[in-house]
Amino acid sequence: MPDKTVLIVEDEENLAEALRYNLEREGYNVLTARDGDSGVSTSRRAKPDLVLLDVMLPKLDGFEVCRILRRETSTPIIMLTARGEEVDRIVGLELGADDYVTKPFSMRELLVRIRNILRRSGPTEAPERLRAGSLDVNLNSYTATLEGRQLELKPKEFGLLALLMGNRGRALTRDQILKRLWGYDFVGDGRTVDVHVRWLREKIEAEPSKPKLIATVRGIGYRFDG
Ligand code: CA
Repeated sequence: MPDKTVLIVEDEENLAEALRYNLEREGYNVLTARDGDSGVSTSRRAKPDLVLLDVMLPKLDGFEVCRILRRETSTPIIMLTARGEEVDRIVGLELGADDYVTKPFSMRELLVRIRNILRRSGPTEAPERLRAGSLDVNLNSYTATLEGRQLELKPKEFGLLALLMGNRGRALTRDQILKRLWGYDFVGDGRTVDVHVRWLREKIEAEPSKPKLIATVRGIGYRFDG
């Protein structure tokens, strides 16, 4: 799965930073905007996969931002409302927001909601195929071919290949790979990743000992260079 970008539109600096920290730790790319105007312009420019949108914002408030974005895009929006803004919540959802959380919210709960919404919206927006030379990965059918020949990949090998190809040219740490493929609660270490990379190389590299597709980034992790 390619990395997802989340735009945080929030004027409270501490909250915006806490959100950024937690989202980046989960592997998301994070953009921030401090007022409604720049929230709209950043969203138009960067086309994020999801927007976290505060209600009380300078310049344009969150409702206006939501209204504008909804006219232009189907990007999921989660509203961040202050306590007691009962009416605001309803209005927010009527405006076409996908969900809301009430401040102060639990970071864990917000992350779950983000994940659920991205999963729902994912298949229509994510690319269906990843290609590199004669390597062709189909994310819908969960199949991969090399020079037209079907590859027999285990689910984790397929996930690893798709993750690396979706981040082509970008080094992913073992830790990032572990969290994305095995989840946060997995008890294990980077060697699990190394073992799967080795298996994968044996299936996709012409010379597994001299890999050309999956590069080892020393002290960091792996990068897809194909
Ligand atoms: Ca605010």
